[in-house]
Amino acid sequence: MAKIFCVANQKGGVGKTTTTVNLAAGLAKVGQRVLMVDLDPQGNATMGSGVDKRQMTLSVYDVLLESASVAEAAVYSEKCGYHVLGANRELAGAEVELVEVERREKRLKTALAEVGDAYDFVLIDCPPSLSMLTLNGLCAAHGVIVPMQCEYFALEGLTDLVNTIKQVHANLNKDLAIIGLLRVMFDPRITLQQQVSDQLKAHFGDKVFDTVIPRNVRLAEAPSYGLPGVVFDPAARGSQAFVAFAQEMVARIGKL
Ligand code: ADP
Ligand code: MG
Repeated sequence: MAKIFCVANQKGGVGKTTTTVNLAAGLAKVGQRVLMVDLDPQGNATMGSGVDKRQMTLSVYDVLLESASVAEAAVYSEKCGYHVLGANRELAGAEVELVEVERREKRLKTALAEVGDAYDFVLIDCPPSLSMLTLNGLCAAHGVIVPMQCEYFALEGLTDLVNTIKQVHANLNKDLAIIGLLRVMFDPRITLQQQVSDQLKAHFGDKVFDTVIPRNVRLAEAPSYGLPGVVFDPAARGSQAFVAFAQEMVARIGKL
């Protein structure tokens, strides 16, 4: 059975999408079979995986509304080496349409149960909110990866997410746990970032991943080429960090 992880943080611009596509590419690089699910109507993870969101015939929207299976709607990104269940603006409508239906927060979970052993990892890129879409991601997942910048309000911002995860754990998904906090866009020259990083470790212990993702311009440039940094420029420091993170994930999963 595939291990399913949500990449979530209710803040926008913290590196969720960058983490999702680069971890997917890193896992593919170390021989894992990966499905990347884009749950954000902006479709950045889709475009950033070399799939044109405007040309898709089927997307995660069709899967949530049960008019297509994951196997039907996912496409293989040749360049990236992983499958993509893409999203586009249509997905914004799902939020409203799902209000009317039964088991609305379990649609993705049910759909992913059908893919069985086809993948080792499923990674879900969540939108920057604690919406019905994010709830679908959290219900489907075994764990949550939380990318965060080591800034002054970082810990405060975590409280809402941790409370939501606790509630989902208690009411909807007993499997759910925070797998880890990933420090991203890290700049060791900034004293404040070092301090926040130390606070994170003091507070969350081994829930903080060992791998640190540096701020690296190649990671920011890659999406405009429709590629994760790991594929666009494998030698870049940021790309190497994501491959190391993929290896850390594989090692951690062995212990789950
Ligand atoms: P989110 O999905 O949480 O909104 P993104 O992954 O889209 O965040 O990242 C926000 C912006 O920061 C993007 O422009 C992205 O290219 C850039 N970015 C993300 N991670 C890094 C990094 N490690 N180094 C440099 N730029 C980064
Ligand atoms: Mg995003």
